[in-house]
Amino acid sequence: MHECPRCFWLSEHGEWKRPAGIFPSLPSGMDSVLKKHFDTFMEKGKLPPELCDNAECKNFKLFDDKELLKEWRNSRKGLWYEDKDGNVLHGGIDNMLVNKANGKFIVLDYKTRGFPLKEDTHEYYQSQLNIYAWLLEKLGYKTENYAYLLFYYPKEVAETGEVIFDNVLKKMAISKEDAEKLFKDALKLLNGSCPKQTCEWCEGVKGND
Ligand code: SF4
Repeated sequence: MHECPRCFWLSEHGEWKRPAGIFPSLPSGMDSVLKKHFDTFMEKGKLPPELCDNAECKNFKLFDDKELLKEWRNSRKGLWYEDKDGNVLHGGIDNMLVNKANGKFIVLDYKTRGFPLKEDTHEYYQSQLNIYAWLLEKLGYKTENYAYLLFYYPKEVAETGEVIFDNVLKKMAISKEDAEKLFKDALKLLNGSCPKQTCEWCEGVKGND
């Protein structure tokens, strides 16, 4: 929707599907091993070193309802909200922290990238985190007004051949109000007529209006 309202409208109305491009398999492979890594610590009631060495996390624990976590991680379902008109917003999370002091949930999302973070790398994920927290509140859970991104990026190759990744934990303030506004803006856009503004690639599909 942000990149091209027209593309969003056409794809949500089933008129066409935007070419997805080549999706690199490394991030999804990393997601899968990281979920296993975190679950090993969750089973022991501990935080992994990436988090427990960080003073900010001393009151946190990993969410340990395994059935719910499995459902929430499923990208086809995940956190799911349906309004009274049948409009759906949903998304699969990576992991969840719980603040032991008040029981509130804190979304934790893993990100794999090729290089150390730039100043604004994390800002790209703002809407994603806002939406997760908003969906959780809609499902009746209380959330903190912040979430975490845990970035992994390659650092060096060990003498024995293993690639060593470094990690950075980034705390982000989140806004459930912005998520709700985004959902409403999306519905307004979809319930209107197809946006006319095109890029040069749209020249051949004017008949889609
Ligand atoms: S304007 Fe460009 S990006 Fe938007 S729908 Fe057309 S081809 Fe896609």
